[in-house]
This record gives sequence, C-alpha cells and structure tokens, in this order.
Amino acid sequence: MLSYSLIASAKINLYLEIIGARPDGYHDLAMVLQSIDLADQIDLHSRSDDAICLHCNHPEVPQDESNLAYKAAALMATKFPDAFARYGGVDITIHKRIPVGAGLAGGSTNAAAVLVGLNLMWNLKLSDKQLQYLGSLLGSDVPFCIVGGTMLATGRGEYLTPLPVLGRSYVVLGKYRSLSVSTAWAYQTFRHQYLSSCMSNALAVENLEQSASIEKMVSAINHQNERNIGQFLYNDLERVVLPEYQKVQRLKEEFQRLGCATMMSGSGPTVFALTHSQAEAQQILESVKIAIADPDLDLWVSQFTPSSIRIPSFHT
Ligand code: ATP
Repeated sequence: MLSYSLIASAKINLYLEIIGARPDGYHDLAMVLQSIDLADQIDLHSRSDDAICLHCNHPEVPQDESNLAYKAAALMATKFPDAFARYGGVDITIHKRIPVGAGLAGGSTNAAAVLVGLNLMWNLKLSDKQLQYLGSLLGSDVPFCIVGGTMLATGRGEYLTPLPVLGRSYVVLGKYRSLSVSTAWAYQTFRHQYLSSCMSNALAVENLEQSASIEKMVSAINHQNERNIGQFLYNDLERVVLPEYQKVQRLKEEFQRLGCATMMSGSGPTVFALTHSQAEAQQILESVKIAIADPDLDLWVSQFTPSSIRIPSFHT
C-alpha cells in the first residue's frame, strides 16, 4: 500500500483583465497569479481494488464524481490504464481549509495535487509541462496550480510564464462564510454587461482610464517594487461582483480606509489586502474584525509562497 500527503496551496489574482469573449464560451484573459500558504491537505492511499473514493470534511464540497479531485484521478486512470491496473484504485481524503467558492482556486489546487500525487504513486515520471497539459483538461486554473509561485497567465489561463518569485509578503484575506460566487455567473454577467460589440470599445476606454496594464504589473514584479505592485492590482470581475454584493464592497472599502492596497481575488468574494509584515497584517485583521463586527466574516493572515503543491510525507 502506498500513501502520500500533499499540501495544496490557494492562489490570489494580483491582476485579472478580461481581454475578450471566445467562441468556445471561455474568455481570453491576462492574469498574474500568486500562490499563498493558505492550503488544503490531500491524502492519497492506494487501494487493493480499482475504485476511486473521495472523502472531504467540508459540507459544501461534493464527494462524488463531480469533485475536481475525483475528476483528476479518473483522468489519470483513463490516460494511464496500465499504471491504474498495476497500482489499483485510490482513496482521496481532502482536509479543507481553503474557503469554498471563494475565488481562491480551491478545487483547482486539489485537482493539481491529485495529478502530482498519482504521478509519483504510479511512478509515471511525467514532467510539469505534461501534468499542466492534463490539468488544462480539467480547468483553467489547474495548470498554474501544478507549479504555482508567481506567474503571468494568458489564453484562458493555460499559457503560463513564470515571473520572479516575490518576497514572502503578507496578505490579509476576508470572506463572508455564507457568501460564495459562481465563477460561471461572474464571467457570464461580465460578458453581458461589457463584451457586447459596442460595449467592448467603452470597456477599452474605461480600462485605459483605470490604467489596467498588465505590463505595469509585470514590470513592478520584475523590479520587486511592492508599492507599484499594490498600485497596479486590478480585477475586471469587481465590476460585476461588487455592485451585486454590497458586503464585499464594504469589506474592500474597510481595507482601503486602513491604507492597504486591496483587491477582490478571481471571481470573489474573497477580498485581500497586501501588508509589509506579519505584525501589520495581524493589526489590520483585528481592526477589520472590530470595524465590521460580523460573525459571518472570516479573516486570515497568509503569506506568498513560491510553490503550489508540496509533499511533506510519503509512506509505504
Ligand atoms: P476558482 O477560483 O478556480 O474559480 P473558486 O475558488 O471560486 O474557484 P472552488 O472552491 O474551487 O471555487 O469551488 C467552486 C465549486 O466547485 C464549489 O461550489 C464546489 O461545489 C465545486 N468543487 C468541486 N470540487 C471541489 C473541491 N475539490 N474543492 C472545492 N470545491 C469543489
């Protein structure tokens, strides 16, 4: 019997610009993605039969074939039938710490961990590139989650260019427990409101005015210029999510009032604020907790991390 434990990190979007709609229903994007050390633990145990079984301690996470981690194992079984026959099925246990439906790529990082874990367990020796290709068949954020760190992502998120690893900056995250945003809803609403043919010109002008510029963000990262990174944070999906979810808007305003560079991550509703030190992060967390005083608001201090999937242990 083989067992692996993997740590699967969440991500935030330092930058998310929607370039345009694609005929396949997806969108062309320009993003900068950053791994953070808020993470799930994924345990894999080989089985003596050929079943794939999944358990998760979080009530909102599906425990059937619709779970992205299950899909990752099923994909590996289909692509590598000889290894699947030799090593048998797998029990997948997800210890969820990343909030669900939060814009932090929780499902995607779980799927990436299963791809990385089964590659090791089945001794397949696939490269990161090959794993990223398999990941792209599961979801737009999975290829990034295979490697993680700081990356420029284009296409629908699958074309990845590593950027210089950012220092271990601290970040405060806030999410209302009872709120989750469907990624599909956020993109569809944006498409309706901003990507009809006459609106795309308006959007281009507005982006210019709001200084949406992936080049400026990439340059700030290349120069490790924290102030500019904060200044060039950008997320097009805020335009549709913030007006719909007043509490999320209010949370962002509170971070701004405290002088932080702040932005919603992905399709939200998590809002993050960049800070210079752990002490400052803790102070901001406490101030927001007092100012908003809502028991439904969860807050975390997290840190940038240079990789996404880590393997602290393996047993035979
Ligand atoms: P992204 O940032 O990639 O758009 P997200 O962080 O907004 O994703 P997830 O936490 O991945 O959202 O969850 C989105 C939905 O996916 C959930 O509502 C849940 O039903 C489903 N799901 C499937 N597999 C998982 C998983 N392993 N972990 C969390 N959610 C999962």
